[in-house]
Amino acid sequence: MDKKVALHTLGCRLNFSETGSIAQDFVDRGYSIVPFGEKADVVFINTCTVTDGADSTCRNIIRKANKSSPDGKVVVVGCYAQMESGKVAEMEGVDLILGTSEKYKVFDYLKEESKTPIIKIKKSKEFYGAGTTTVDKHTRAFLKIQDGCNYVCSFCIIPAARGRSRTISLENAVARAKDLVHKGFKEIVLTGVNIGEYEATSGTSLASLVKEILNIEGLERFRLSSVEPNTFTDELLEVLKSSPKVLDHFHVPLQSGSDTILKSMRRKYDVQQYKSVIFKLKEAFPSCAIGADIILGHPGEDTEDFNDTYQLLKDLPITHFHAFPYSKRQGTTASNLPGHISGEIKKDRVSLVNNLGNQKLISFSEAMVGKFNEVLFERRNKEGLFEGYTSNFVRFAVDTEEDLSNQIRKVFIEEASNGALSGKLVDTLI
Ligand code: SF4
Repeated sequence: MDKKVALHTLGCRLNFSETGSIAQDFVDRGYSIVPFGEKADVVFINTCTVTDGADSTCRNIIRKANKSSPDGKVVVVGCYAQMESGKVAEMEGVDLILGTSEKYKVFDYLKEESKTPIIKIKKSKEFYGAGTTTVDKHTRAFLKIQDGCNYVCSFCIIPAARGRSRTISLENAVARAKDLVHKGFKEIVLTGVNIGEYEATSGTSLASLVKEILNIEGLERFRLSSVEPNTFTDELLEVLKSSPKVLDHFHVPLQSGSDTILKSMRRKYDVQQYKSVIFKLKEAFPSCAIGADIILGHPGEDTEDFNDTYQLLKDLPITHFHAFPYSKRQGTTASNLPGHISGEIKKDRVSLVNNLGNQKLISFSEAMVGKFNEVLFERRNKEGLFEGYTSNFVRFAVDTEEDLSNQIRKVFIEEASNGALSGKLVDTLI
């Protein structure tokens, strides 16, 4: 009988992309994948340690895994495992603990038998590639081109957990991208912890890599995940502008709209530089959607700093907000800074910014009504409509009998409601 594996991922896109690739390795070795929470021979948990809150979520998930599969092997991997292997080892039912680089060797370690948890943690120096594969049932593939980070942002534990920046070579990245296209993926998203640092580690500019990938025949859509504003070069912008495959959706983390706080966060840009990147993007891609991460309530953020952030977000053409309250993470510089903000104030600031974000997304989507767009369809939603995303990443739904999964279709947008769109397939209008 087939062995069963249940996988659970916490944290960032990159973690999801890595689990995707490891899931495929399980399938290749004859495992069948069951939903997390069902009884399995192996429960694989890819953890995150971005905040103290993330740590406790990981611990809850580990407890659940032990409950659902008391006789299975519970494997805890990734950033939380890397940083807190001792605490994980003390938890009931954990069999194997693998750090951020050792997680790829899970099959070697699964063979080992031991009455106490096996712990394999090394400093991450090598690059392990990952690309989402068909087991994820996703229509877009996430291709990892970079890992780790050499920056020292005050609030971030990633450099300690994932190690220094390292990258895939241009040749390997292109080969993997071709393979994904060959497997039927229509859209590729390049991911990493800090992909703008690709050149600093590989010697090849990110722009050259993107150019090569855009040349792949059969690739229809392309996006970059988050790009730090200080690494968004004019060369990169030129390459993006030159191809119709590039989707008009970008993500440029802001974190704060106050220069004082950006400095205290040890970010590598100021408000002026950030604005300049956003305006250049908007000029090159007039209907583009732009997403930004925002941390509210970083130590020392006073009312004026917050107001500056709010005003900047209001003024800039940013449409997709990812606002989080600053959350203390032991081991980071920010955790020892003076001027920590109360939970109440942080909550208020996040809700003010989220309300602004919702309004902006609503206006942005309303402005798309009466226009054409191309949607990559994913699945049928609970209401029975077929759903996907427009080129500028707004949810779109259509009432149709057709199975549209993994199809790119031209649509006409008829209605916007609460930041989501609906309309018709263009070929049904003729
Ligand atoms: S750029 Fe800053 S926030 Fe991003 S991973 Fe590196 S240290 Fe963390």
